Amino acid sequence: MKRVLIAVGIVVLLLAAGAGMVFYSAFSHNRPIVDGQVLAPGVETVKDGFVSAFIIDVAPGKVVLIDAGKDKAGEAILAALARRGLGPPSVAGIFLTHGHGDHTAGCKVFPDAQVYAMKNEIGVIGDAAKVTGPLEDGAVTKVGDVSVEAFAVPGHTPGSAVYLARGVLFFGDSAGGGKDGKMMPAVRLFSKDPAQNVASLKSLETRLEPRAAEVKVLAFAHSGPLDGFEAFEVFASTH
Ligand SMILES: [Zn+2]
Repeated sequence: MKRVLIAVGIVVLLLAAGAGMVFYSAFSHNRPIVDGQVLAPGVETVKDGFVSAFIIDVAPGKVVLIDAGKDKAGEAILAALARRGLGPPSVAGIFLTHGHGDHTAGCKVFPDAQVYAMKNEIGVIGDAAKVTGPLEDGAVTKVGDVSVEAFAVPGHTPGSAVYLARGVLFFGDSAGGGKDGKMMPAVRLFSKDPAQNVASLKSLETRLEPRAAEVKVLAFAHSGPLDGFEAFEVFASTH
């Protein structure tokens, strides 16, 4: 009996080590996430462990979030709001890039917020949040003084969205920023359709190229940002 337990223990340890290595290799090339980093005027990064959410100022004392983090208690987001003297009611809206749990867990901390996501992502979001603002590709949502534009980028999940607001293009998990300054596609292992992800990114790049000057920063959920539009152009021409 004891031998069986030891054998089971060893298998569990090996599996845990393997999972750790897979996770490490998926994210080790990423630019680091820096808590509190200001990406553009009125856009702040919140580091919630291995994932980020973003706070966008929309009016005095009002903000929207891009994603809501992995923490059900929303501690990192609440701390960032508290530093500005704000609490949960200041969050007017949450724009979900997609429905994976490390992006939606904090939603219920902000019961007054409208929750926006692509219409075809509602099934993936499930019970994590009630989507009050279902979006279509190209939708522009005005909250306070800020317009948030939504682009459909199916691949990582069927209803993944990229958002453009205050000059920052928020990719969620649909892309990442490498330490070498290059933009990377969604991590294959965690993605529904990696080939579709790349095709969606390329078509979005073509679509936004005439507006490249509007895009000051590329922001990613699991890595630090890249400045300017250029890394997106390079991605599109090399994938
Ligand atoms: Zn994801």
